[in-house]
Amino acid sequence: MGRKKKIVLILGQVLLFIVASFLVLDFIFPFPEHKLHRVSATIVKDNEGNALRIFLPPDGARRMHTDFAQVSPTLKKSLIASEDSWFEYHPGVNPVSIIRAAIANIIAGRIVSGASTIPMQIARMAEPKPRTLSAKLQEAFRAMQLKLHHSNDKLLEIYLNILPYGSNIEGVAAASYFYFGHDPSTLSLAESALLTTLPRGPVFYDPIRHPQQAAKGRNRVMLQLEQKGEFPSEEVNRNLKLPLPDKIRPVPLKAPHFCRMVLERSGRIPEIKTTLDYPLQQAAQDMLATHVARLRGDDIDNAACVIIHIPTRQIRALVGSADFFEKGYGGAINLAETKRSPGSTLKPFIYALAFDQGKLTPDSFVYDIPVDYSGYSPENYNRTWSGQVTVKEALARSLNIPAVNTLAMIGVVEFSKLLQKGGISTLNKTPLKYGLPLALGGCEIKLTELTNLYASLADGGKYRPLTFSSGTENISTQLLSPEAAWLTLEMLSSVARPDMNETWMLTRDMPEAAWKTGTSFGHRDAWAVGISGDYAIGVWVGNPDGRPRKGISGAVHAGPLLFDLLRMTVPGGKLPAPPEGSGISEVKVCAHSRRLVGPFCSETTTMRTLSGKTRLRPCKQCRQVFVDAKSGYRLSGECLDRPNIKKIIVRTIPTKLARWRAENNLEIPKLPPPADDCDLIPAGIAPKIISPAGNTPYLLRKDTPLKFQQVALKAEAEADGGILHWFLDGRLVAKGRFDEKLFTEISTGTHRISVSDALGRTDSVIFKVK
Ligand SMILES: [Zn+2]
Repeated sequence: MGRKKKIVLILGQVLLFIVASFLVLDFIFPFPEHKLHRVSATIVKDNEGNALRIFLPPDGARRMHTDFAQVSPTLKKSLIASEDSWFEYHPGVNPVSIIRAAIANIIAGRIVSGASTIPMQIARMAEPKPRTLSAKLQEAFRAMQLKLHHSNDKLLEIYLNILPYGSNIEGVAAASYFYFGHDPSTLSLAESALLTTLPRGPVFYDPIRHPQQAAKGRNRVMLQLEQKGEFPSEEVNRNLKLPLPDKIRPVPLKAPHFCRMVLERSGRIPEIKTTLDYPLQQAAQDMLATHVARLRGDDIDNAACVIIHIPTRQIRALVGSADFFEKGYGGAINLAETKRSPGSTLKPFIYALAFDQGKLTPDSFVYDIPVDYSGYSPENYNRTWSGQVTVKEALARSLNIPAVNTLAMIGVVEFSKLLQKGGISTLNKTPLKYGLPLALGGCEIKLTELTNLYASLADGGKYRPLTFSSGTENISTQLLSPEAAWLTLEMLSSVARPDMNETWMLTRDMPEAAWKTGTSFGHRDAWAVGISGDYAIGVWVGNPDGRPRKGISGAVHAGPLLFDLLRMTVPGGKLPAPPEGSGISEVKVCAHSRRLVGPFCSETTTMRTLSGKTRLRPCKQCRQVFVDAKSGYRLSGECLDRPNIKKIIVRTIPTKLARWRAENNLEIPKLPPPADDCDLIPAGIAPKIISPAGNTPYLLRKDTPLKFQQVALKAEAEADGGILHWFLDGRLVAKGRFDEKLFTEISTGTHRISVSDALGRTDSVIFKVK
């Protein structure tokens, strides 16, 4: 073996030994990676990319994360050329500069040059040590580890995020924001040069306290870059003249409730791009504060509002209270996200579902008379009744009884499903626990979710999830048919309403709007939700501590803020056009009953129905009877052979209504009395039991004597049905006319109640008592 070969072999073995030792050491002493990834701040941005709020990490450092791709190439070029021009090629340490530095150190007799590569600087920042030779060797080892385990881009990203910039600022993203007020993606050469020089001496080059030194350092970097041919002289000369930053920007604190909500939902990620329209947010904040100042004179502490863009369901503005920083008045509470009782605001959706179930139309008649659902007897706000009203009127006047009756008709379970499908996340009890009081707001709801539910009325009946971050894909589900949604919206847009203050009607620049107000039981919450153009706006007014305020009202206290917000947000806004196609059809109905025209209906009207859905029964209220022309008595059966018979048309009314009218001394249309000498053949309508009801069990309270827990006996019967006889399990327990108040005692178990009228027509119902 030749000498040369021997030397090569030995060198090869040495090299192999070094590499092997390095790998063994790398295995035994892995790089403490966690020290490279410090918890960074979360920056929340508006829809224009401007910072709304920066949530600093728990250690209070102004540390913001940026991805490699988001950093300006100018800064990357400046840093590499100035700090470590062979960064992309060396294994973590640069042998050439080590030798150069060693000579310099020997000449000086102390460490004057570190020959630090970028990986070595990272290692030092991760594990700061005094500047000794052994520390230097450890750094070199760590640097090689970094180079071994990370790509160049990844290492540079770590470096960009770890660089110190003084004043507790860490990383180029935070430095860009706090010194220049923008992203690291748009740094100029002058800015990049300052960010290159500053980490070398964060105090010495502090541009605020030592502007001359900072300018010198910055410009020296630029001139060096020019010398190295990295940037053209022209660009360098232009940038040399640019001023330094003269202040550190404060941590922004805009839209505080919204930002905190967004942080809670997204978690601590470096950046959240939201959908908030900041100018709109600011205007809404000011408007809300003005209204709250007025409301406080009225013993109402606070308010909240949310503005949702309907097509995307993006939150464009959210004001959680009049002033986040206010001590007292629940300032820091996000009242737009607090669960509160929704009052009457769910009523439109009850009717909308009834339209889709084919049970009602906006022009159908509903009853507004006292009801009793196994002990639940809701009352209207003003404790009066109107007898019979159209659905449209019932909703416009926000009558309670028609809403409860309609909920009973469509089913609490079905309605709860609709609410849950519509994004109401706060219904955590079973539907039956809510029961019929759900119609009047017997549950808890957040303003944000309620407003989004209303948005579906203007969006073809579609539910889309509410979103606060841009770029979220928005999948829709059909909540209501487009027709039911539109008809409901139209009902809510009629202007002549008790909850519409006349001064608003006179306001010229008021956009076309549909809205509903609501007031919760117990005088705690006032609501107003409105729609116009592409926006749904919700307002809540009340006391954050839940203190009631007698007389609080959605119309009086929440409505004015809603209308101001609508005017501001959607000037000239329009309501959606009716759905295309033939989903809504006009049908001729009896004006008297709003049912299909029968042979004896003399007055008719047209009514919009849902094609293929609305089920209309024929009118049975307009009837033809035969009377003796002389006596006026009613004839039937054999008597119809008599001479001088006259046909007359009688418009009867349903017995429920007749009962109520009779009780209130109101006139009831009656059939002519039957002729004495004429055997009336049982005909017409048999009585129908309405109480007790067979569908819900009755609950007896143990602490109350049975005689105070009697059940009402009520039947729909014809006014000429005479005396009704009531039988409980075959035993006569009561008798009286259909409009008399009758009761019976009950005991636990299953019972049959039967009723028969004077003509022998009967009905019976099985019911349970627990
Ligand atoms: Zn009729």
